Amino acid sequence: MGSTMPEPGEAVAVVRFRRGIVGETRRVCHVVPVPPGDTVPERLTAYCGQRFRPGQAELLTHITGMPCEACLAVSARDLAPARLLPALP
Ligand SMILES: [Zn+2]
Repeated sequence: MGSTMPEPGEAVAVVRFRRGIVGETRRVCHVVPVPPGDTVPERLTAYCGQRFRPGQAELLTHITGMPCEACLAVSARDLAPARLLPALP
């Protein structure tokens, strides 16, 4: 259905459309996987499949306002409590 699956240990970022790009009701917070490296990718694709073209996304430090439910569901599954616990020696 066009969504991407998170890889274990993958870095993620929270983004939303900048003001004026879309209507306020569509400015929900999406979770996007961030490829390794210092460069910001040309295009971002959220877990839910929402694509952001260069200049459309506003990078957030945390989820603020309305989260995207589809992104939240995928990231919640990825960050299940068992995954956050350090491995026992
Ligand atoms: Zn989303």
